[in-house]
Amino acid sequence: MSANSREQSIEKLESEVFDLVVIGGGITGAGIALDAASRGLSVALLEKYDFAGGTSSRSTKLIHGGLRYLKQLELGLVRKVGRERAVIHRLAPHLVRPVPMLLPVYRNGSLGRWSTTLALSVYDRLAGVKKQERFKWYGPKEVANMEPGLLTDELQGGAVYTEYRTDDARLTMAVLKSASGAGAVCLNYMLVKDFVRENNRLSAVLADDLIGGKMITVRGKLVVSAAGPWVDEIRRIENKSSDKKLQLTKGVHLVLKAERFQINYPVYADVGDGRMFFIIPRGNRVYIGTTDTLYAGPTENPQVTKDDADYLLAAANRLFPKQHLSVKDIISSWAGVRPLLFEEGKSPSELSRRDEIWETSSGLISIAGGKLTGYRTMAKEVVDKVMFKLTGSKSVCKTESLLLDGYVSEQELEALITRLKGEASQVGFSHEEIRRLVFTYGSETELIIEQAYTLHQEVKDQEKRILQAELMYCVQFEWVRNISDFFIRRTGMLYFDRQRVLKQYLPAAEIIAELLDQQDGQTREDIAFLEAALSQAVTFN
Ligand SMILES: Cc1cc2nc3c(=O)[nH]c(=O)nc-3n(C[C@H](O)[C@H](O)[C@H](O)COP(=O)(O)OP(=O)(O)OC[C@H]3O[C@@H](n4cnc5c(N)ncnc54)[C@H](O)[C@@H]3O)c2cc1C
Repeated sequence: MSANSREQSIEKLESEVFDLVVIGGGITGAGIALDAASRGLSVALLEKYDFAGGTSSRSTKLIHGGLRYLKQLELGLVRKVGRERAVIHRLAPHLVRPVPMLLPVYRNGSLGRWSTTLALSVYDRLAGVKKQERFKWYGPKEVANMEPGLLTDELQGGAVYTEYRTDDARLTMAVLKSASGAGAVCLNYMLVKDFVRENNRLSAVLADDLIGGKMITVRGKLVVSAAGPWVDEIRRIENKSSDKKLQLTKGVHLVLKAERFQINYPVYADVGDGRMFFIIPRGNRVYIGTTDTLYAGPTENPQVTKDDADYLLAAANRLFPKQHLSVKDIISSWAGVRPLLFEEGKSPSELSRRDEIWETSSGLISIAGGKLTGYRTMAKEVVDKVMFKLTGSKSVCKTESLLLDGYVSEQELEALITRLKGEASQVGFSHEEIRRLVFTYGSETELIIEQAYTLHQEVKDQEKRILQAELMYCVQFEWVRNISDFFIRRTGMLYFDRQRVLKQYLPAAEIIAELLDQQDGQTREDIAFLEAALSQAVTFN
């Protein structure tokens, strides 16, 4: 499964006939690969870019209970998504963390006190929220004490309810590693360009190996496209006259230093135009999001515009009037594209977040819509269909109890951090670093520490040793091919620890080049790519 065994994976991809070929290595494709492999199917998953390189590294990074769907009266969805977040938390407590979220309510706002408490009570009930996590209402004075910088004019009070914070790209990686552990052959930098048909049915996909530089044929009894915003593009490769199924909308997030924007709670509040937005602390950073605007630009690399940034800063300044935030305070940002289902005449916020599956006469199954939070149930729907087609009967989905890669139980997390800190201090890991690693790699952190021990003599510089140990792990077990894979999606540092990226990206590029035996030209290209991403994260035109 490792990047080092890329050649072996390619050999397998070329020689086997898989039960299922999955296109797309975002959370949806990863979930499908895990579900199918755990039911005993042979699975190949091909990702054109890096895993989670599309929408699945660009979300608000919440495992939502679906509170916003109440407004659209999608009660079935509230129930399904709300219950699902408890399942995902149970499967990966190291990646999915409960946080108390403050929802302030103002007299002139779009949420009233009674409608908010009613909505949250319905939500707690529908979503089966645990007793200790049910919402509580606080009066205006209490709310002002809880969050001192908050606007107090017309404040009626506020509710504190529980949300679950995650890292979308890490969750995708944990699901993929679990799928790989269950036998799926998953590979990044494999661009699916065409299909092969036999008797008018799809029998294989043609994929361009963007690392090795050759086209390969991957044969499969069934093909599922989980290509997110590119689902329509894949459908058009299969049939030029396919209709439009998706409506893309863009959402952006801004990252600020916590010392510049001090808040005690994550906040979910009214922007002032009827929309809601989040302000979420993460370590010594705070991120703000999101926008929701119709999008027809390039899906590959959506940009945060000056209008996007101004909109979110204005919302934050309105809610926290003493902050006076400006574009200069933004230290990073990201933009993502939502692959929503097309509905004539609806505004972005009105478009449903439900998912849908389509099948063409030649057998291409596509899935789109949905949320990060619903990945497991979406995968179940798809794999139920796939199993029925392949075997003529249903089979039992196992993913509700399949703990994800790196799993550490909620009760053991702090004990693990303390133990590892004791073991790892000799090779230079600080307590903070161990915390970061455990909430990134879970139980796998032990392998990184072991790696650092093996480098103890050879690499005297402590910081370089830790970097090298983590990179070696990521190259071997997480398909890392370049510094962008590492700093953007495996660690999120480009968003949340820009200083560290600036300090480490050149040595990291050297280490990766050596580990993967890369040509200088390739390394230069990778460096230029990351430098462009660093610059884009703080440029707003
Ligand atoms: C701003 C924003 C905020 C959001 N916030 C939340 C949130 O807080 N909580 C939540 O639950 N959901 C949230 N979502 C929704 C969630 O992020 C998406 O529903 C989810 O990530 C979609 O995953 P996906 O796998 O379907 O698509 P993607 O992650 O885009 O994956 C599709 C993959 O297919 C690959 N691909 C495309 N074409 C090809 C090809 N030809 N060959 C090979 N591979 C190909 C792409 O490279 C891509 O990696 C948010 C979305 C946005 C945009």
